[in-house]
Parts: sequence; C-alpha cells; structure tokens
Amino acid sequence: MSKREIHSMPRRALGILCCMAVSSALMAQPKPPRPGFNLFSKAQDVQLGREAAAEVEKQYTIVNDAQLNAYVSRIGKKLASQPEAEDYPYTFKVVSDNTINAFALPGGPTFINTGLIAAVDNEAQLAGVMAHEISHVALRHGTNQVSKANLIQLPAMLAGTMAGKSLAGQLAQLGIGFGANSVLLKYSRNAERDADLLGTRILNGAGYNPVEMARFFEKLNAEAGSARTMQFFSSHPNPGNRVKAVEDLIQYLPARQYNEGSTSELARMKQIVAKLPKPREKK
Ligand code: ZN
Repeated sequence: MSKREIHSMPRRALGILCCMAVSSALMAQPKPPRPGFNLFSKAQDVQLGREAAAEVEKQYTIVNDAQLNAYVSRIGKKLASQPEAEDYPYTFKVVSDNTINAFALPGGPTFINTGLIAAVDNEAQLAGVMAHEISHVALRHGTNQVSKANLIQLPAMLAGTMAGKSLAGQLAQLGIGFGANSVLLKYSRNAERDADLLGTRILNGAGYNPVEMARFFEKLNAEAGSARTMQFFSSHPNPGNRVKAVEDLIQYLPARQYNEGSTSELARMKQIVAKLPKPREKK
C-alpha cells in the first residue's frame, strides 16, 4: 500500500459515512399523515358537509360583508389549491361570533368566527387556523370518527343512500347531529397532531410561515378554560409541543420565502369585524 493510498483512506471512509448520513436523513423524512378507516365515500363526505352547512347557516349569523368575504376567500383559495388539501369543494364563510373558533365540515365548508379574526396577530396565523381546518377535511377526520363509532346501521345506511335522501337526516336518526358536541367535530389528540402536520405542509406550500399556526395555538392555550377559547379546545384538544413539532417538520420541506401578508389589510378587516352588529343569540 503506497503512502498516498493510506492517506486517502480515511477520506474515502469519511465520504462513505457522509453519504450514509445524508441518505439516512432522506429516509427519515416523515411521511404526510393519511386519512384513516372510513365507511363513507369522498362523495358522501361532500354531500354530508353540504347538508350540514345548510343547517349551520340557519343556526349561526353568517357575515355578509364583501371585503371580509373576499379576504378569507383569497387566503382560503391559496391554501385549498395546495395538493395536500385534496380536491374538495372548499368554501369559506365568516360567522358573527366573538369566541375564538373556526370549524370545517366534511367535504370542505369552512367557517371562521369574527372572534378569530379579531384575535390573530398576522395573516399567517389566520391562514394557520384555516390550514389546520382544511387538514381535518382532507384527512376526513369527521367521517372517520363516525365510521369508528361502531354504529351497526351505518354500513347499510351508507350503501343505501339514494339521490334526494338526506345523509345528515339519516345520521341524525342514529343520534349524530352537528351541534357543538357532535362526534363529527370533536377530534382526538392524534387527529390534532395530524392536522398540524398536514397544515404545516399546506402553509409552507402556500408561502405562509407554519410556525405562526403553532404559535397562535400556543397563545390560545395560555387562555385555555376561558369562555373565548372553550369551544375551540373542546373540539380541538391540545396535542402539546406544537411549535417544536412544526419546526421539526419544516426542516424537511422545501425552503420558502414566507409571505407576511398585508398588516394594513388585516387591520382593515379587524375594523370591519369590530363594527359589526352584535350576533343574535344562537337557537
Ligand atoms: Zn383541530
């Protein structure tokens, strides 16, 4: 063995080690969360969501302000066009309600409380909550939970769904409604973690800093138990360590130049929200 070969050995060995380190890092790249067990078809998610949205719109005061609607629709469209959102017919409406909350029904109808718009520090935080809700839709968490509820009549009911028959009405007969405590909107901690992780991918793709989503949830958590946040945490239990989970995942995602959003536009939306008439009492 020549002197030269001996000298070059450690370097070659080092090269191999480096290669192994790089490939193990690539191998360790986390896979996106996937929807779980589900007896519903995707089309049934969409049908159920449409029927439930019609009910929600009767029960809640939907804000009819062109600027506010255009604002949430613009953010929503950007998020919904990411491949991880799957191709559901998303819609975005503002609900006149001072509590900090947002919710999405199966198949895409998404509702954003005025209280949420009033509470966010920047557009990325609002987009963050919306991306989290979109993730519940794409991961089909609502109908996954109904599927797991072990309802003996459910498979036959879903197989027998005919055009013109209300899926929501049939589910109501099985005791599944769309109120605050509905199994459709009460997620598990695992579902929350998955919605954060898929939401992180959606936000990164749309050019929003996903850490803002986690920061906002942590900020809400500091207020957990208050009347303003009760509804949110009763349907979205805190999975914990949210900022770290997002930061860990971002390392594997394509680097992006994040869009801060216009602070003056958000300030204008907050003004509109502040001037809205008091919401009528929920039925
Ligand atoms: Zn959630």
